[in-house]
Order: sequence, then structure tokens, then C-alpha cells
Amino acid sequence: MYTKAAYVMVDFLAVIVLFLTIYAMDRIKDTYGKWLKRALVAGSFAVVANIFVAVSVNSAMAAVAYCAYFSAIDFILYFLYGFCMLYTEHVDIFKKTHKIICALMIIDTVSIYANFIFGHLFYIYEDTDNAGVTFFLTGFRPYYYVHLTLDYMVMALALVFIVYRIIKSYSLYRVKYILILSVLLLVVALNVAYMALSLVLDISVVFYAVAGALIYGSITVFVPRSLMNVSILRATDDMNEGLILFDINDSCIYANAFAKTRFDVDESTYNFSCEPVSSVIKEIIMTGESSGDIPYIKNAIRNGVAKTEHYRIKFNKLTDKNNRVLGSYFLLRDVTEEIYYLAAINEAKVNADNANLAKSAFLANMSHEIRTPLNSIIGLNEMVLRTEKDPEIRGYAEEIKQSGAVLLSLINDILDFSKIEANKMELVHSDYNPHELLRDIKQFFEQMAAEKDLFIHISCDPGIPSVLNGDIKRIRQVLSNLVSNAVKYTKEGGITINVSCNFLSHKTMELYVEISDTGIGISEADLSHIFDSFRRVNEGQNATIQGTGLGLTITRELVELMQGHITVHSSPGKGTSFKVTLPQTIVDRTPLGPFTETPAPATVEYHESFRAPTANILVVDDVMVNLKVVEALLKRTQVKVDKATGGAQAIEMCDDKKYDCIFLDHRMPAPDGIETFKAISVSGLNTDTPIIVLTANALSGADIEYREIGFADYLSKPIKSDELEAMLIKYLPPDKVTLV
Ligand code: ADP
Repeated sequence: MYTKAAYVMVDFLAVIVLFLTIYAMDRIKDTYGKWLKRALVAGSFAVVANIFVAVSVNSAMAAVAYCAYFSAIDFILYFLYGFCMLYTEHVDIFKKTHKIICALMIIDTVSIYANFIFGHLFYIYEDTDNAGVTFFLTGFRPYYYVHLTLDYMVMALALVFIVYRIIKSYSLYRVKYILILSVLLLVVALNVAYMALSLVLDISVVFYAVAGALIYGSITVFVPRSLMNVSILRATDDMNEGLILFDINDSCIYANAFAKTRFDVDESTYNFSCEPVSSVIKEIIMTGESSGDIPYIKNAIRNGVAKTEHYRIKFNKLTDKNNRVLGSYFLLRDVTEEIYYLAAINEAKVNADNANLAKSAFLANMSHEIRTPLNSIIGLNEMVLRTEKDPEIRGYAEEIKQSGAVLLSLINDILDFSKIEANKMELVHSDYNPHELLRDIKQFFEQMAAEKDLFIHISCDPGIPSVLNGDIKRIRQVLSNLVSNAVKYTKEGGITINVSCNFLSHKTMELYVEISDTGIGISEADLSHIFDSFRRVNEGQNATIQGTGLGLTITRELVELMQGHITVHSSPGKGTSFKVTLPQTIVDRTPLGPFTETPAPATVEYHESFRAPTANILVVDDVMVNLKVVEALLKRTQVKVDKATGGAQAIEMCDDKKYDCIFLDHRMPAPDGIETFKAISVSGLNTDTPIIVLTANALSGADIEYREIGFADYLSKPIKSDELEAMLIKYLPPDKVTLV
């Protein structure tokens, strides 16, 4: 009785285990999971059938239960075959074979149930030897062995494919298949052992529960874990960085392949005091950092080639969930190439900077070299214009004057461009009246336009405030560039300048200036290039028109520097229109009213602005002709001009005579202007005389530098007569100056 109860009990436990495994199987979403689940369901069915065998009360009941049990085993094996094939990725073979196996199993099942008629598989007999308990047992006939062979054949087939997969797969996955193979072999071995012992009742069904649980375990728990470990180790070995892990006792517990080969790290002997980490540790101790990046440089000789390798080392503590320190890790990244390229980039930058400095120096020199002779040409030509009455010669001199002005504006453009490129363009804000600005522009271009029979029309919003604040010099330059282009590129018709404003607040507004012409226009394709440096468009048509292709580049840069923007619209053959928007500060909001033009003076004949017959000045320049120019330009002012052709001579003269003002050229053979200035301002009679530097150095910041040295002012060459006179009115003693 107890024996029976024990059998039932064990089987019952097996069913519970199977059910639990089936329930857990829901976690596995892959198709092989479904097949394993089916095998487990069939397994449960077999166990239940086995219980019925144990509790059967007559031979008929036992025979039915045996049939159910045997056929269930067929299907367990069929489903298990499906699981093994799918799990080991033999999908194609499975698809081709499973129907045959299924058919064989169905035939075998029919054959099992046909035992009732033919008795070819088993017979039932009663066993009463067992301590008074009645068991209905099976005795086997030849066909039973056919059934058994079929089952073992299916099992063997699955095992063969698993073995095949083990051989063929990467070592990383091999362990996963080996686990499944081991579990299945174990179950088969247990089953065979059990059968060899030929116990009374077939308790082998219990192994289905064990097998189910083990298979489930190996595909869900064991396999991912070991796979993860293997994968992590493989991944760290494949890393292009060194990884070294230390335990809490500072001994190396792991080093990846990179660290092993590059730094000869040996896990058994390596610790904190070995390079390459020991120098980092020292730095950590020094800086008190517990994690971070440390650039580390290592000299290594590998493959017989000595080279310096650079490694960036990242280090950190390893802690558990509760923040307890377990050890530390070091990541070593080879940055040799990076450092090499950085050095190359740096070198290229230094070279580019040097080239740029050389360019600036060249520009400064060229500016100086061109301005110096231009000073003589423009200055002496001015004398011709002042003294000559013959209209023919005056005509020639006028031409020289215009060409000189063009040349000067070209040099100025190139200088402006270099200032903008070097980010040295600075804005100087002052108050101005917009109407005066417009009148200036109109006056300046009126003659040029009249020569081409073009009109210049200005329309201005009467509501424009009377005083604005902005960089008037740069605004004038922007508008002049645009009007000059409009005149240059227009053959008939004229230029219209429209000015309006948009108040942004009580204190700020946007000034809109639109300059439209009826000229040749710019094609659609060229429009996107007109702001490019040195780019002239429509070269064929414009070949005869002077220009450098810098005007619009400078214009746009200046507008942007003033926080404004510029746009252009053009129709070839019809004309072009540039719109400039400039934010300005309002100083006096009173509207200016309608724009009125003041007629341009008919002839621009020279008149001195002052006379100072008692004033005495000294002019110092190593170029004789420049001295003559100053002297000639000041002739009508009656100022007495002493001349010195070098610094040494000037210092001597200053020891003997007191001057009202001194003009000193900068670039002279030693002593140069600055040395001469220093000498004059410390000894002699002219220590407090205003000294004005005369220079062709018009580069950015030059005026500030000169003032810092101590010069009273700065006059750039070529010297303009009106600027020279204005300077003298400013610096000569007022009692000696009579304005005219
Ligand atoms: P440039 O010194 O050649 O005038 P800019 O930078 O001032 O150089 O102008 C660039 C090009 O844009 C000019 O060469 C010219 O072809 C074109 N351009 C500029 N303004 C006008 C205009 N108002 N009408 C037609 N073409 C113009």
C-alpha cells in the first residue's frame, strides 16, 4: 500500500514541477520555447497516465493507462526534437523533417492502441509479490522494441544535431549548446540506468520533470550568465583601450589583452607600484583626485622601433551597491596619433599665424612705401593747382589729383580689409545729423555723376530724428561704397537714395538706407558672389571700370560690425538696389523735417584757413621732397617752417630753438621718429612742445600706439592740406593764430 502511495506521491510531485516549469516558460518568447512547452505538457500527460497505471484496479484500466503513457512519450520526444532543432538553429532541417517524425509518432500511437486487438506490444499481468500490494505491470513483446527504437532514434537525431552545432559554433556560444547536450545526456543516462535496474513501475517519467527544469534553467539562467561573462571578456579583449582592474589590496585581478601586450601586465605579479599606473597613482596622491583623466606619456620600445607613445589614463574606484570600495580600474587609451595630429595642427596654425603676421607686415610696408611717394605726388600737385593759371596744365593736374585719390582709396580698401580680417576694426561712435551725412555723400558724388549725365536723387523720411549716434565714419564709408558702385555701374538714368527709419524704443531705431540705380544690374548667378573678397563679377562688361572687388566685402563686414544687415536685389539691364539696415541710438528725437539740399560750391578753390606769421614749426623727414610738400602746403599760412632731414639734426635744432609745434616722421634711419621724440621730450628747449607724428603707417591701432608713446597727435600720409591746417589751428598757441 505504502509503495503505491509513494509512487503516486513521486509522480504527483513530478506533475507539480512540470506545471511550474510550464508556467515559467511564458518568459521565453522564442519559438523553441513553444516546442519545449509542448514537450512539458506531453510530459505532464505521461506522468498523469503513469499515476493511473499505479492506481489501476484491473488489467483493462492498466492497459488503457499504459497506452496513454506510451503514446505520450512519443510526443514528448517529438516536441523535444523540435525544441533541440530550433534551439540549435537547425530551422531548415527541422522544417523538412518534423512532419515525417510526427507521422511516425502518430503511426506508433495507433500501433500502441492497436495492442488491444493484436497484443503485439505488451501484455498486462498482476504482481502480488510486493508486500501485499497489487500492481498491474507490463511485459514486453517484440513490437515494443520497435516503439523504443523509434523513440531513441528521434532522441539520437536531436543529439547529433546538437553535437554538430557545438562543433560548428563560435566558442562564445559553444557553452550554451554544451549545457543542453549535457542535460539531455544526463536524462537519457538516468532513464537507461533506471531501465537496466528494471524496477517494478516505470518511474522514468520523473526524469521528464527533472529534464524540463534543467533545460529551462540552462536556457534562461545559466546560459545568459555564462554568455555574458564570456562576451564581456571577449569584448574587453577586443577593446582598443587597456583595462586593468585591481582589488582592494591593490593587486591586479584582471588585465585585458591590450594592457597585457602593451604594458606587460601579468595578473599574478602586477600591482599598483608597477608602471604604467604607478606614475598616475603618484599624480592622484598629489592632486587628491579620486577619479578622472590624466595624460600620461610613455616611452616604449616595441618591434625594435623606439617611439614615444602617449596614453590618456582614466581611473576610478570600483564600488558595490552600498558604495563600499571593492578596488579600482584604469582605462588606458592610446592617444599617440591624436597627439601627433594635434602637434601637426598646432604647427600648421603657427605657420598660418606667421604667414598672417608676414602679410600684415607686408601690408604695413607696402602702405608705407606707396603712401610716401603718393604724399609727394598729391602734395606737390596741390601746389601746381594752387599756383598754376594755365587751363591746360591745370587740367593735367586735376587728372593727377583724381588718379591720386583713386590710388589712395585702393590702398585704404586693402588696409580696411586687412583690419577686418585681423579683427582689428574698431567702431568709434559720435553724434551726427543724418541730413548732413546725406548732403556730404551727394556733394561728394555729384560731380562724378554729372560727368556721366546721371542724377542723384535723395528722399528722406521727414520724421527722422535730428541727432543720432553711430560710427559716422564707417556709415559714410558704407554709403559711399554703395553710391560709388551705383555711379560706376550705371550708364544712364541715375541713383536714388531712400532713407527711412523704424523706431525700436525711445532710445533706439533702425536706419534704413536703400540705394537703387538704373545701371547694368547683376545676374542671378553673380548675386551670391558679389560679397566675396577680391571677386568682381561680370568681368567682361566691367573690365574698363576700376575696382578691386573688395568694396562690397568691406561694406558688408562694416554693416555687420555695426550689428546691421545688407541685402541686394537686381535685374540685369534694369538696375540694382542695395538695402542697408543699421541700428542707431537716438540722441535728439526732434524730426528733421523735409530734406533740403545745399548747392555744392561751384569751384573748389583753395583758401588758407588761418595765418600765423609769428609761429615757428619744425618738420622732420628723411625724404627731402616731403619736407618741401609741408612747406609748400603751409606757404599761404605764413607759418615759418624749419626743416630737418634726420633725427640727429632735429635733436640738435631743438636744443637751440623753441618751436610752437613739431612734425616728426616715424620711419627714418636711426635715430627714428620715436627715438628722436624721446630725446626731444627729455632735454632741450622743446620738452613741452606738441609733437605730431607724421606717418604712412595707417594700420589699425597705429594712432593709439602713438598716443601711448606720448605724441600729441597723428597725421597720416599723404598729408591733406585741410588736415594739416586743422592740426596747426589745434596745437599752435592761439594768440599766434588768426583765422581767416
Ligand atoms: P569693385 O571694386 O569691383 O567695384 P565691389 O566689391 O564694390 O568691387 O563690387 C563687386 C562686384 O559687384 C563689382 O565688380 C560689380 O560687378 C558688382 N556690382 C557692385 N555694385 C553694383 C551695382 N550697383 N550695379 C552693378 N554691379 C554692381
